[in-house]
Amino acid sequence: MDHLTRAAVLTAPRRLELVARPTPVARAGEALVRVAATAVCHTDLEIYTGRHPGVRLPRVMGHEAAGVVEAVGPGVASLRAGQRVILNPIIACGACDSCARGRGNLCRNAGLFGREMDGSLAEHVVLPEAYLYPLPDHLALATATLIETLATVRHAQVRARIGAGESVVVLGQGAAGLLHTQLAKLAGAGPVIAVSRSPAKLALARRMKADAVVDASQEDLVAAVRAATAGRGADVVIDAAGAPALLAPALEMLAPGGTLLVYGISHRPVPDFTTYPLYFKELTLYGSRALTPEDVGPAIALVAGGAVDLEGFITATYPLERVAAAFEDYERAPGAILRLVIGPGA
Ligand SMILES: [Zn+2]
Ligand SMILES: [Zn+2]
Repeated sequence: MDHLTRAAVLTAPRRLELVARPTPVARAGEALVRVAATAVCHTDLEIYTGRHPGVRLPRVMGHEAAGVVEAVGPGVASLRAGQRVILNPIIACGACDSCARGRGNLCRNAGLFGREMDGSLAEHVVLPEAYLYPLPDHLALATATLIETLATVRHAQVRARIGAGESVVVLGQGAAGLLHTQLAKLAGAGPVIAVSRSPAKLALARRMKADAVVDASQEDLVAAVRAATAGRGADVVIDAAGAPALLAPALEMLAPGGTLLVYGISHRPVPDFTTYPLYFKELTLYGSRALTPEDVGPAIALVAGGAVDLEGFITATYPLERVAAAFEDYERAPGAILRLVIGPGA
C-alpha cells in the first residue's frame, strides 16, 4: 500500500487543489475504503461556489460514493478487504435527542460527510463500519453512487406515505426528480405526472414510466395537471426542483386534502405564498432531510433487483485529476447535467 493518498481540497470558492496526504489508517471499528466513484450533486455545487452557508474551508467534498474496502480495523465483523461498498454520508453523534429518537438525519452535532467533515473526493476514506453497506458484485460502482440519492428520495416518499391510486406530480426531472417519478410508480401511484422545462429530461421521465409529462416552458402548469387528473387536482405534489416560484402553483394544483412534499430546497423566499390554501383545502406539508440507515438497504435492493432504472443518469465521468474541470463544467450548465461522476486517479 502507498503511504500517500491524494484528495481534492477546496481551499477557496471555485479553487480545487489535488493534495497528497498520508493514507489514513482504519482504527478499531473502522474500514479503509479505496474510493472508486463519487457523484457530484447540487449540494456540492453550492459548497464549491461558496453559496452553502456555514461550510468551513479547506474542505474535501464528496458524499455520494462507492468503493472497495482495502483494510479493516480491529473488531470489524461485517466487512472484509475486497468488498464493494457504498457509504451512508449522514454522520450522527448517537448521543443527542434526535439520535436518541432514531432520527440521526436530524443530529444536532454531526452532519454530512463531505460538508461538515472531509469527504470522498479522494483516493481513500476511513469510516466506521456502520456507515458502509456491502454491494452485490454485479452493480457498477459508478452507478451505485446514485443509491444515496435514491435513499433520500425513498425517505421523503415514506414520510409522505405515497401510495397506490394517488395522483402524484413531480416538479423537476433532475436525478432526484426522475427517481421520485420511478418510486411513485413503484408505489402504485397514478397518474404520475412529470414536470420539467427540458425536453430531454421529459423523454427520460417517459422512459421511467411517467403516465403524463408536462413541459413547464410551454404549458400552463396548473391547467395541465388539472387536465391530467380529470379536473380534480393532484393528491400529492413533490417539489424536486427547489424553485421558490413553483410553490404557489404547487399549492394551487393540489386537490382538497392533498399533500405537498418539499424535497428540493432553496434559501430564497417563496413568492406569492399565503397560508390560505393550507386551511381551505386542509393540505399537509412535509419537509424531508437526507436519509436514515433504514433507507439504505431498500435503496440498494431496488437497484440490485432492477426495479429502479439508473441508465442515463451519469452525464459524464472525470478522473480525480480533472475534478476542477468537472466542477467548471457543472457550474456552466447545471440544468443539462444529471450526475457527474469523479472516478479514481489515473
Ligand atoms: Zn448529494
Ligand atoms: Zn446526534
